Parts: sequence; structure tokens; C-alpha cells
Amino acid sequence: GRGAAVVAAAARRLAAQRRRLDAALAALRLPPAILRELRDKMRAELEHGLKRETQAQATVKMLPTYVCGMPDGTEKGKFLALDLGGTNFRVLLVKIKSGRRRSVQMYNKIFAIPLEIMQGTGEELFDHIVQCTADFLEYMGIKGARLPLGFTFSFPCRQTSIDKGTLVGWTKGFKATDCEGEDVVDMLREAIRRRNEFDLDIVAVVNDTVGTMMTCGYEDPNCEIGLIAGTGTNVCYMEDMKNIEIVEGNEGKMCINTEWGAFGDNGCIDYIRTKYDREVDEGSLNPGKQRYEKMTSGMYLGEIVRQILIDLTKQGLLFRGHISESLRKKGIFETKFLSQIESDRLALPQLRRILQQLGLDSTCEDSIVVKEVCAAVSTRAAQLCGAGLAAVVEKKRENRGVERLQITVGADGTLYKLHPHHWIKNCEYKDLSSESSCLNILFFSPFPSSFSRILQETVKELAPQCDVTFMLSEDGSGKGAALITAVVKRLHNVGQK
Ligand code: BGC
Ligand code: MG
Repeated sequence: GRGAAVVAAAARRLAAQRRRLDAALAALRLPPAILRELRDKMRAELEHGLKRETQAQATVKMLPTYVCGMPDGTEKGKFLALDLGGTNFRVLLVKIKSGRRRSVQMYNKIFAIPLEIMQGTGEELFDHIVQCTADFLEYMGIKGARLPLGFTFSFPCRQTSIDKGTLVGWTKGFKATDCEGEDVVDMLREAIRRRNEFDLDIVAVVNDTVGTMMTCGYEDPNCEIGLIAGTGTNVCYMEDMKNIEIVEGNEGKMCINTEWGAFGDNGCIDYIRTKYDREVDEGSLNPGKQRYEKMTSGMYLGEIVRQILIDLTKQGLLFRGHISESLRKKGIFETKFLSQIESDRLALPQLRRILQQLGLDSTCEDSIVVKEVCAAVSTRAAQLCGAGLAAVVEKKRENRGVERLQITVGADGTLYKLHPHHWIKNCEYKDLSSESSCLNILFFSPFPSSFSRILQETVKELAPQCDVTFMLSEDGSGKGAALITAVVKRLHNVGQK
């Protein structure tokens, strides 16, 4: 009858729509052969960064960190940690106890960094950091204590010792002037001097990946890799000194901050970049830089989603072909929204409510499409990250000269932590308040939705000789900086005895 004809017409319309949608999302799909190729390219870039003749031109910079030892449980004392470069700026007081009552206690305060400070002058930025630190010391009643401090500074730094680091270039949302090429520890010391109110004993400058590795290493000595999948992306790992050609000495190991976010800045992954990626890059603070990071990290995934949605809308496949004011707005999809949208625990009406809050007036079908786009973008990110990590664990395996490698990766970051851990189910929604025409059969996504799970599956696939355990690092950048500071103090005290 008539009802059947209407349903058939709707089904045909949906099938046509589906084909065009699939075509748009196909550009984001990475078949196994491409992933293997990317793993091998990453591996080649890691080698370039380590070799004396090639390191100056290398895009993956492989920066020595001067962190050579892991915590052994004998660390103790009170430490301060500053954490700059993640979602927020934080100041922490960390109390470490050794021996049988081994424990780590932390007190921290979170401060927002206003945009005009992130992108103002270097002096303003460091004055702000010191101001926040003063607030914290005051609040904790420890202004006169002059505690040893670890500075987690999550940007590429060229180090010549544990407490010296020259900023190579800003990444993510930072662009303060007069900092690149300067020593960030000096800048911090000068800001403390300018304030002339308290003194701090700055012992170490640490990348967040290194702090993450150290935090997990405190629990599991097999942890020799640190991964951040957050606002930005990066990996560090313990490398044999003999392979680090720009650092004297062949004994033991040193942690290398790979700065793999810059992978592809020489064009070697351009063949997998889509027009959406190029658009995001061109609209960023650092065009042409951090190309891998821009496909894999929280600061950019939402922007990629937005570019795709704009394109689909232009094609008439979304939002009735109307590009709303909100969709034009940069940064509307933060990581937390992406994870929410992608979560399958969310019923369709809730999903639509979220989109509504973002100013996206969507039909039921629209929200399904949005969800699929989010899933496709984050799946690709997790796979890319997995391909990179496979290169690192394979390198570790070859270094050790073993047939099979057991290794632990300490991991942290908003993307890694917040992303939903469930499959999108092909389920029915009975309680749709409006839009009775919404066909529930469409609610099927070929993409599984968990960042960390896809990441782990990809590593398994691409590095089959490595058994990789992932360990979530609780607060790696804060705790880790304190642990490194403690290790430096311990080694220093040993030296004095
Ligand atoms: C920075 C790295 C950092 C990573 C994660 C990147 O943008 O260059 O130093 O480890 O973000 O925070
Ligand atoms: Mg060497």
C-alpha cells in the first residue's frame, strides 16, 4: 500500500545519501598496507633523528632528555611541580615517601591560561606562571620553603642537561613571542627574580611524555615508553646511549623525546592527508608544522570533524544544506564533546541535545551522520598513533636483540583517557520525541569507537613480535616531574657522599 511506497522511497533516498557519505569518509580510511608503510616511514625518521649526519635536517627531532635512570623507590621528600602545555596550567606539591610506606601524595591547583597570555609576550607568559605559583605557595603556606622544583614543559626543547632546555618552537595553542631559541628555565628564573618575592630551586625541565613514563616506571620497571595522546601527541622512550650519536658516551640508556608530532613535516605523509587536514593545518597557529599531530590529537580532531561537516553540508547531505553560524566557529568540537558524541552509551535524543548545545540544530539523521564522522576521524587518529607506536616498540625489540619483547607503555592524555570504550551498537530507539521518520536501521557504524582500544589493536597488528602492556598514568606530568626531580636529587646526594 501507500505506507510501503513511502518507506521504499525513504530507503532509496537514504541509500543514495549513504553512498555519498561513504565516499566522503573513504578518504579517512587507512588499509593495513598503508599503516605498515607509515610504521616503516616513522621508523626511518626515528633513525634520521638519532644519526649525527642527518639529525640537523630530521623532522622527528629525537631530543636527548638527560634522564638516564628510573625511580627505584628510594626517592623521598617534598617537591614542587609546574605543568605547562596540557589542557591547563597546574602547580603541584608532591610528597614522596620511600621504604615500606612508599607513597606519593599530591596537592594541586589548576589555573586557566587566558588566550591573550598564551599568545602574548614571553615575559607576560612567565610572569603569569610565577603569579599562579605564588598563589599556590601562599595557599599551601610554603612560600619560604624553597622546595626543589620540576618543570613539566610540554613543548620541544633542546637540552644540554637536565635543567636546561631551549625551546625549539611552540606547538598546540601557544605562540608567545621571544621564547623560541631561549632557555625556558632561564625565563622562569628571571620571572621569579622579577617578582622578587620567593625563590625556587629549579632542578629539572621535563617533557610530559617523560613524566608519564617515569610515573609508570615507578610502579612497573618494564615501562620504558611514555605516550601522550591529548591536546598534542608525543612519545618518549629509553634509547641505548650508543645509538644516540649526538650525546657522548656509549654506556647505559637515555630517554629520548621523539617529538613525533612533527612526523610528515617533510611531506612524507602528505599522500594520506585529506583536503580537510590541509584546511585545518592552514587555519592553525603553525601551518605546515606538526602534520602528524594535527591528524592525531585532541586539539585538531574536532576541527577536522568540523571541516568534514561543512563539506557534507555543502553537498546537501547534512543540516538541510544550511551552514549555521556555529558550524563556522573554530573550535566548537572540543575533545570532550567528541568523546561524548561518539559514546554509544548515549541515546540518540541525548546526542541531539549535545549537538543542540553546540548550536547545531540537527535532525535525527543528521546526528547519526555527525556521530559517524566523529568515529571515522578518531579511528584514523588511533590507527595513525598505533602505526607510530609500532615503529617505536619494534625499535626497542631490535635494540634488545630479542625474538619477542615484553614492554610497558605509560600513557596519558585527554584523548586516550576520555574516549569511549564501547562499540556502537545497532540498536533501536523507541523514545524519539520528534522526527518519527528517523529510521533506526541507519544507526549502524562500521567504526568501533574507542581510541585506546584501536590504538592497541593497531600496535598488535603492526608489531606482532611485541607484547605491549598499556598502563594508564595517573597524572604523569605532575607526579613524573616530581619523581625525576627526586631522582636527580638522590643521584646528586649520592655523588656528594
Ligand atoms: C609537544 C610535545 C608534547 C605533546 C603532548 C606536542 O605538541 O610538541 O612536546 O609532549 O604535544 O603534550
Ligand atoms: Mg652516544
